[in-house]
Amino acid sequence: MLFAYVSIDSNSLFVIGMRIGLYLFSNDLRVEDNALLRLMSARCGQILFVYCPLRTFIPSAHGAYPHQHYSKPVRIFTQATLANLAKQLAAYDHSLYHIERFEQLTQLIKTQGVTDIGIAFQHGWEEINRVRTLKQRMEHLTFWHAHNHTLFSAEQLPFSVSDIPATFSQFRKKTENSVAIEPTLQKPIALPKPMHCDLPTSPLEPSREELVEPWFNNSAPQALNDYFHTRAASSYKQTRNALHGDKFSTGLSPWLANGSLSARQVYSALLAYEQRCGANESTYWIYFELLWREYFQWLALKQGRTLFLFKGMSDTAPNTSFYPERYQAWCHGNTEFELVNALMHQLNTSGWMSNRGRQIVASCFVNELELDWRYGAAYFEHHLIDYDVASNYGNWQYIAGVGADPRGGRHFNIAKQSELFDPDGQFTKRYGGASIEVYERDHNGWPRH
Ligand code: FAD
Repeated sequence: MLFAYVSIDSNSLFVIGMRIGLYLFSNDLRVEDNALLRLMSARCGQILFVYCPLRTFIPSAHGAYPHQHYSKPVRIFTQATLANLAKQLAAYDHSLYHIERFEQLTQLIKTQGVTDIGIAFQHGWEEINRVRTLKQRMEHLTFWHAHNHTLFSAEQLPFSVSDIPATFSQFRKKTENSVAIEPTLQKPIALPKPMHCDLPTSPLEPSREELVEPWFNNSAPQALNDYFHTRAASSYKQTRNALHGDKFSTGLSPWLANGSLSARQVYSALLAYEQRCGANESTYWIYFELLWREYFQWLALKQGRTLFLFKGMSDTAPNTSFYPERYQAWCHGNTEFELVNALMHQLNTSGWMSNRGRQIVASCFVNELELDWRYGAAYFEHHLIDYDVASNYGNWQYIAGVGADPRGGRHFNIAKQSELFDPDGQFTKRYGGASIEVYERDHNGWPRH
């Protein structure tokens, strides 16, 4: 028996021996397919649900959400996801409470008599350190973790984290046919009794502001269903490199990044699609891309702080630096490269960009503008609605030649990419790629005239 009621006063139960859980949502903003929630539900008699983003404990004077210094699309998407999660919890009579700073957590733990904390395994170095700090400060509490963000758990991998292969190909070969992906978990049948506190709660409705790209105003289940209810998955491999269009790629990354969809849920929807409509090279390729995601997650764990270093995994530093004017021009989409401008305008207004677009602008950042890749990665961190520490920094390292690419970086020929992926210039036109101001300097910063 996990807990015992010993005396009852007029309004409440006074409980001795009850485990009081605090579930700290991070990048697992869902109730379904949540192994940690299952675990906590079996363990605790009462539970408090708290959202406290591990990547941003920067105090904000402007309101309940800690994302004010992130772009508008990121704020809108985060609020919509939290409203959705709050709704899922409300079905169990639970609320989702918000904390802005890590220090508030320690206070909350004391005042509520928390005995157990649940927090998903993290892959980012800073996030891991936050959890470690919490554990050090709260040694008397029991901590519970689960692999909520990945397809595999650490125990399933055929190598230890320190032996993660140096390239994606090796990782794929060693995992794709030998590691069985666990089936998804349905909602827990019952959650522990709710616990209340006087922190701000998530509204059940998102703000009225919407993202400019209608697809991203869906909820996670809607997006998953919508994608797999068309036949788009059967031609994914042929269309995935496009810059824009309807369902040319799955478009599921924002929900995967914040965990309102699990990688296993996407995988299981893919299997169901293959059963219904048939498997082919394209459906396999969706799994292949999920494996890329998986690889970057484990690589980030292995790399730790190295993921953020200029040299990354390489012995030599790239021959790049920081030039404020070039950086500004890239951020605002005002370089001499019209396709790059259009892509950056797309990112700035919608919070999203295709994979091919990201490769082009990142390659331009590093190779044409000769900028230190970390500034580009940081800009993406603040502007992508699908920002994920492992995928973002891992991909930037890859392009900059300091990561997992055995070829030592990628240099995309911008003119050729424009011909291939925007032959009639429609994308560039749509996102206003022609420089708004006359760009008077060359990419070295020298006046043209
Ligand atoms: P799909 O093509 O439909 O792929 C399905 C899923 O597989 C994606 O949702 C994603 O979870 C995963 N995936 C696909 N390609 C990659 C990849 N190269 N690396 C890791 N996972 C992948 N992805 C992020 O989720 N967050 C990021 O912060 C991020 N930053 C990036 C930065 C750069 C410089 C580059 C080149 C790529 C970055 N990516 C990032 C990877 C990729 O661009 C996006 O995952 C993809 O464009 C999302 O669109 P989609 O969901 O339609 O992908």
